[in-house]
Amino acid sequence: MKNEKYWLRRFIQEKALSIKSGQEYEIALNKRLDQLLAIYEQDIKQWYKRFSDDLGIPRDETVKMLDGIELKHFEMTLAQFKEKAIKGGYNKQLDSEYFKSQIARLKQLESQFKAEAKDLFSVEQLKMEDELVNQFNNTYLHDSYNIQDYRGHFEVNFATLNTDKLRHIISNPWAKNNENFSQRIWGNYVEELPSQLMDSMLRQTLTGSSYQDIEREFRQRFSDVKSKHIHRLVVSELGHAQEEGSALAYKNQSVEKYQYLATFERSTCDRCAHMDGKVFKLSERQPGLNYPLLHAYCRCTTIPYLEESPGEEKRWADGKIIDDMTFDEWLNKAA
Ligand SMILES: [Zn+2]
Repeated sequence: MKNEKYWLRRFIQEKALSIKSGQEYEIALNKRLDQLLAIYEQDIKQWYKRFSDDLGIPRDETVKMLDGIELKHFEMTLAQFKEKAIKGGYNKQLDSEYFKSQIARLKQLESQFKAEAKDLFSVEQLKMEDELVNQFNNTYLHDSYNIQDYRGHFEVNFATLNTDKLRHIISNPWAKNNENFSQRIWGNYVEELPSQLMDSMLRQTLTGSSYQDIEREFRQRFSDVKSKHIHRLVVSELGHAQEEGSALAYKNQSVEKYQYLATFERSTCDRCAHMDGKVFKLSERQPGLNYPLLHAYCRCTTIPYLEESPGEEKRWADGKIIDDMTFDEWLNKAA
């Protein structure tokens, strides 16, 4: 494969830059999430002022019942707990005004969490859209330039993408559940996060924990959701935008085949190692099967597979021989 080394160097550079840009976005996102955590902690402080720790069910019994409940969502944990408590003969305690009022207060707190998460969602939706548009377009432009550079023929009248078109492209649902990025952010911020946090609050309330314990467990749960659900969302959405940017560049530059690349820098995407080096027709491209991303946290990418040799040193544009062009010069002419 005569062109492999050339592409490896160029495309790995591009992928590395995209990943770095994604990491920077995530650092900024985490700061915004920390602000939400601070708001939540104020809410809990207020809520705790009217907290009492005696539900009338022995604490070790409550702990035992909760230990067997593995789900991490408020409503489900509550339903299972009630079922167990009834079996254990604690109907009276469940019916008490005290228990009911504690649950009502927790539900109220959950609504508050959701409303506050909605505020963050509207900011985050716009920020993520910008980042996706940015990642898609950067990859599209750099790949287009690199392909033309390889062929030694710069076309300045290739299709650039306007912002409306880019926003439209990145809003297309692509994940298995047919949700687009905006619905997935909503699901993570406004549903998953508050529900999981309230599950933690419910467990601590039922066992009558101290304020310090409640706060510690709450922070732990917040950071779990952040590192698991939200990190996964960001990595997969940004990775998808990059790979789709490449695919469109291949198509518009009439690249017919691409080569799968599981080896990135010094590390390999383990789950995709068997795909490394395989060549596919662009017309048979299927993201998730023979085109990245293949799974959550997939770091694979592709390079164009061109059977022709690299072009001459002279560059051509509009039928005239022109000198070599840098990416910026090329982009300025195209715009
Ligand atoms: Zn992979």
